[in-house]
Amino acid sequence: MDRIFINKMNLNTLYTKVLNLESLSSEEGAFLYRNAPPSELFETAQRVRFIHVPETKVSWQIDRNINYTNVCISGCLFCNFHCTVSQKDKSYTTSTEEYRIKIAELRSLGGDQILLQGGLHPGYDITFYENLFTEIKSIDPEIKLNALGPPEVAHIARISKITIEETLHRLVRAGLTTLPGAGAEILSDRVRKIISPAKPNTQKWCEVMRAAHKMGLSTTATMVYGHIETIEERMEHLVTIREIQRDKPSDAPGFRAFISWPMQMEGTKLSQIYSGKDITPVEHLKMVAMSRIMLNNIPHIQASWLTVGEATGQMALHCGADDMGSIMIEENVVSSAGANYRMGSEEMQRRIKEAGFEPWLRGQDYLPR
Ligand code: SF4
Repeated sequence: MDRIFINKMNLNTLYTKVLNLESLSSEEGAFLYRNAPPSELFETAQRVRFIHVPETKVSWQIDRNINYTNVCISGCLFCNFHCTVSQKDKSYTTSTEEYRIKIAELRSLGGDQILLQGGLHPGYDITFYENLFTEIKSIDPEIKLNALGPPEVAHIARISKITIEETLHRLVRAGLTTLPGAGAEILSDRVRKIISPAKPNTQKWCEVMRAAHKMGLSTTATMVYGHIETIEERMEHLVTIREIQRDKPSDAPGFRAFISWPMQMEGTKLSQIYSGKDITPVEHLKMVAMSRIMLNNIPHIQASWLTVGEATGQMALHCGADDMGSIMIEENVVSSAGANYRMGSEEMQRRIKEAGFEPWLRGQDYLPR
């Protein structure tokens, strides 16, 4: 009885802190995650959502994933997408003609942005990416490039023997518009050494993001959870993201949004060494709520419907999320490990309305399109 009373007392203290937009420690976050009744957690996160985004509106986006190559030296255990240069029957680099076709399809659907991602190619240095961005811009000068991610930027800097700052400056000069927060998974080197040992480490991911923010680049942050990490490591990840955002120049956009999703492991090497349970919808909704609660300096939280399904995505809009992300015109990475949900523009808007909100179409700058 005493224990229940103490927990309830602590929970109420934490809810008050959260609603005052105070920063919770990772220990406080883990305590909330473990002890708060889900209904209270969801309600608290939703109240914070309406402090950040007062309108009953939910944003969505039209963009297109394009993978410029599937060659990667990282060999992450959770990735079915990559291959090596020597796998000639599987490896590819997207051609100019393919970009032309994919961009035309995107335009016909009303989109103006590409999410351009690939692997850590051993032979592609900064000049490859400068040429690639210039080529895409010559096909469509108005297209926006939300491209690469911190691991790719760190890898390009390393093989080009230039600094991260110079790499980012040259990429921006060539056409980079915004930098996605890809490749964060869990920002803990204990976890990274097991699931992605050859990928740039936590410190590099943070270094790239801090440099991008100093330059005024708009970015996002991500987390892929539900594998070998602990609840404490998830919360430490959120605190790390919040601290990077805290340190950005006051006039820089920094992280505009945070997106978390459960690891997709079907057929991956990770599934052979990890025998944990699948993430349930309630667990995902708790992580959406905790993201909203812990990240008191990031304005937008995504529902992440692609990996959890449209219905759970709709429920996330009542647990702190205010953004449904993009319709999926093409996706090859998480779908190769088991995520198979799809949604077009009409379905997206219908789902947002059905959940009780007004849809509005945004760009990567989170301004209306
Ligand atoms: S997740 Fe990315 S970095 Fe890791 S192996 Fe796949 S393509 Fe490479």
